[in-house]
Formats: sequence, C-alpha cells, structure tokens
Amino acid sequence: MRITGLTATPVAVPFHEDELWAFGGRRGLVAILLEMTTDEGVTGLGEASAYPSADVVMAVLRSIEPFVIGEDPFAVERIMKRINVAGTWHHVKATSPAIAAVEMACWDVVGRVCGQPLVNLFGGRVRDRVEFFYYLSRRPPGKMADDVRRGHDGGFRTFYLKVGSDDPAEDIERIEAVRDAAGPDARIRVDANEAWSAGEAIRIVRSMERYDLELVEQPVSGRNLTEMAYVRGRIGTPLLANEASWTRYDQLEVIRHGAADVLSVDNQMDSGLLNLKRSAGMCEAAGLPVLKHSLGELGVAGYAAVHVMAATPNFLYANQSYASLLADDVVESGVPQYADGTLAVPEGPGIGVRLDTERVARYAELYQREGHAFAFSDAAGLASTPVLPKR
Ligand SMILES: [Mg+2]
Repeated sequence: MRITGLTATPVAVPFHEDELWAFGGRRGLVAILLEMTTDEGVTGLGEASAYPSADVVMAVLRSIEPFVIGEDPFAVERIMKRINVAGTWHHVKATSPAIAAVEMACWDVVGRVCGQPLVNLFGGRVRDRVEFFYYLSRRPPGKMADDVRRGHDGGFRTFYLKVGSDDPAEDIERIEAVRDAAGPDARIRVDANEAWSAGEAIRIVRSMERYDLELVEQPVSGRNLTEMAYVRGRIGTPLLANEASWTRYDQLEVIRHGAADVLSVDNQMDSGLLNLKRSAGMCEAAGLPVLKHSLGELGVAGYAAVHVMAATPNFLYANQSYASLLADDVVESGVPQYADGTLAVPEGPGIGVRLDTERVARYAELYQREGHAFAFSDAAGLASTPVLPKR
C-alpha cells in the first residue's frame, strides 16, 4: 500500500465569543484538514492546528510531502524518521502540527484497513470515556456565573480560566465568582501562561488558594525549570507544566528538575499520536500524571487524541477542550456531544469520523475571507503586554 497524495484545506470555525489569554485573543480557530489518499482507495484524515500560523503549517506540509508520498502508511515510524532525520527537523529541535497531521492520517488509514478503532491499536481501552474541562472565557467577575452554570448543567466538573491579566486582584475576584457559582465540589484550574516572575507567582497563587485550586498551570516561564521547581516548592497547589513540556525532550527535563506535579502533553506539538503515548509512558515511569493540552481542535484531531487517551492509564486529569467556545465543527456528527464532561470513544474504524463536505466548504471560504481574525497572533496583545513576565 502506498500514499499517493496529501490534500490540505485550511478552515476557520468561529467561537461563540472571543478567547482571551495573558497576551492576546482570537475570534475562533483555524485548523488545516488533511486528506491522505492511497493507491488502494482508502483515504485517511488528519488535522493540524494552525500553529504558529496556517501559512507556516501549509509550508511545512509542502516541504515534507516528498518524504511521505510513495511510502507505506503502515510504516509510521519510518515516515516520521524520514521527516525528522532526512528532513532535518531533528536539527531544528522543533516540530510542527503539520507533521502530527500526517502521522494522524497514517493511523486513520491503518485503522480503516484493519477495521479497528484506533483505541484498539494503542493498547485497548483502560476507560470508555475521556474527561474534559470547561473553558471559561475571560469576563468581568460579575459576569462569570452564567458561563459556570452552563458548564455545570452540561455535567463538567473541572473549570479552567486564564489568569495573569494586568490586574491580579481582578483575577482573584473572577476565581471567587467561579467558586461561588460552581460550588464546593467543582475543580478550578488556572493558567497564567508564564505571566509572573517567581516572587509574584508565589504571592499571587497563595492568595488564590483560599478558593481551593485544582492546578496552577505555567505560573512562570517554561524555560527556567529551576524557577518552576522553586515556585512548586513554595505553593500549596499542584503545578501543571505546559509551555515547559511541549515535547518529550522538554518533558524529560521537567521530570529531571522536579519542576511540575502534572505535565501537559500534546501530539500536535510533538509529531503525533505515537509520541503522545510515549510522553505519557515516560511520565508514568516518573510517577506523574498527564493531561492533554489543546491549541483548539475540531472533530478529527479531537477524536484522534480521545482514542489514545482512552488507551493510556495516566491521563488522570480533565483534558483541554474548546467545547464551551466552538460554535460548530467539520465532522459529519457535528459538534462533539459531551456527557458529564466526557466524550465516548468513537466506535468506527480509524479515528471513526468523516468530514461534512458542506461545512468544510463553508469554513474554508470563511478562512479565505476572514482567517486573519482567527489567528493566534494579536497585535493588541503586544500593546498591553510588551514583555513576559508581566510583573
Ligand atoms: Mg496553557
């Protein structure tokens, strides 16, 4: 069996409302949908987050195509080695969601040919459903409650909000509002996106802890693991690595430095689903749980990862999801249906989803017309946050 072609389609799918973080914001998400054709008529689906931009992902896809076309889609390791070594990505010491999308499409082909859902090819089920958090948009503290109730009514138990805004007192007011609305049993997770210096992180996190935080995500720079370990030792809340733990090499250093209690892992940022499993395995050996980070994913990438998370024991925390933000999706089954904050593992072969061609066309057109408004880069963010840490 041989891979005969890769077709990439950027799409822009709107959010119900803007996503805002410590240094920027966006109206919706851009994803690059990948269709991998083969000489036996089986087509596999992949999806890349548009990180750092759709243009870069499209350029990477073009550049790695020669290492993929003509290969056997079952030879996942060999294809990845060709891209990384012959393509010299190993020297760049970086990766791209484009590479992850190619790997994802290979697995979709493999699953379809075998007639098996991916979960059965990644170790089999250790859980039938995978839990996700509820992402709370940044609003004035007095307006958080409605959003919390929507998540609560949807059965979500973990609420995630960005902190690290220009006014820490307002962040604390937001957390108080979330705790009031969510009740004592809800889990509250905060993400500072590296906004604080070590001293400020310790002071601010300690003042937030009276609201019983589940995890504090990346309070300080992810590039200074000594500082992360220092902060971790001086706060009462478990520390979640994110910007510090993009790849397996980064995760190894986080483990060595004792810099986190929980690690974010992400196939989009580390060349695919096989590495997602490897990341989790490395952390499991170190006695650490993991959760899946997301740059914002539609049904193809979202469900691809669900298979691996369902087959991997130490995904013990609610994983990242854009369920509360996304207004639509591009798969035939539509917006994923969460029950009690969880998604079921698809039963069909491969990833178990198909593209809705009408929606793909609509959102491809939206990308062409207004894609810039959906990008990660935000000039306004630079004006308000010229440097990190903020204080
Ligand atoms: Mg984060």
